[in-house]
Amino acid sequence: MGMADSPGAFDAHFHLNPGEQGKNAIKRFIASGGSGINLVNLPDYTTGYEGYYEKRYEITLKLASMARESGLNVSVTLGPYPLDYFFWEKGGYNAREMMMEGVDLAGKYCQNKEAAAIGEIGRPHFPVDEKVTEESNQIIERSLQISKEIGCAVVLHTEDLDASGIEGVYSMALHAGADIRKVVKHHASPGQNHIFPKLSRSILASRSNVRFAVQENTWNFMLESDYVDDPSKPDKVIPPDSVPKRAIMIREQFSNHEEIIASIFQDLPDYVFFS
Ligand SMILES: [Zn+2]
Repeated sequence: MGMADSPGAFDAHFHLNPGEQGKNAIKRFIASGGSGINLVNLPDYTTGYEGYYEKRYEITLKLASMARESGLNVSVTLGPYPLDYFFWEKGGYNAREMMMEGVDLAGKYCQNKEAAAIGEIGRPHFPVDEKVTEESNQIIERSLQISKEIGCAVVLHTEDLDASGIEGVYSMALHAGADIRKVVKHHASPGQNHIFPKLSRSILASRSNVRFAVQENTWNFMLESDYVDDPSKPDKVIPPDSVPKRAIMIREQFSNHEEIIASIFQDLPDYVFFS
């Protein structure tokens, strides 16, 4: 079976900024065999407070059009980034209220089919006051409710989760009545795919992560570069062509590569972001 018969690589968590660097990142991604991305909204606090989410989401949607014009299959994820909490707090705003508005606006774009997911929403990835955790959990709950109402996906950014942490977000999704397979733990640790396996995950596409995750034989994960398109750190978090390069690695190293590739680059992305 040739390359043309199998799906191209799909990166489940990719960011872009306007400008040449992002365009070049897309070119590198395509040149290595990438065929699709889930484009996730990026915070930029130089945008200012007025109409913050409207402005950020419109920029992300424009970048999605640019990526589609390059030939990629693109889904869009919009939502308040967990650290926006401190941006709003610093400006004297009610952070919870502003972020709830950001969630509701993202839900409207999902309802109009301009976006496929609310995210990346969740909790800061470092220890914070109890109040911040509590209100961040309310943001997650609201996003999961919208997911139940309109069938969109939710992309979660949280601290690293152990088994009880995974159970925590699984329970929240269950309680909200959301389709748990449409809830994606971003930056998931490999080796945990068997824990509450109905929850979907996206795993950073380093070589060791990919080997580890594939060997678990639990097909509930996608791969991500979490490329952030930051001019001062050009290949952060990992280079933009990492996911297609791991697809090549999978073809070379696993005899059941057709099954693996169909699952992580087609079946799960289609279910989560394109259905
Ligand atoms: Zn991200």
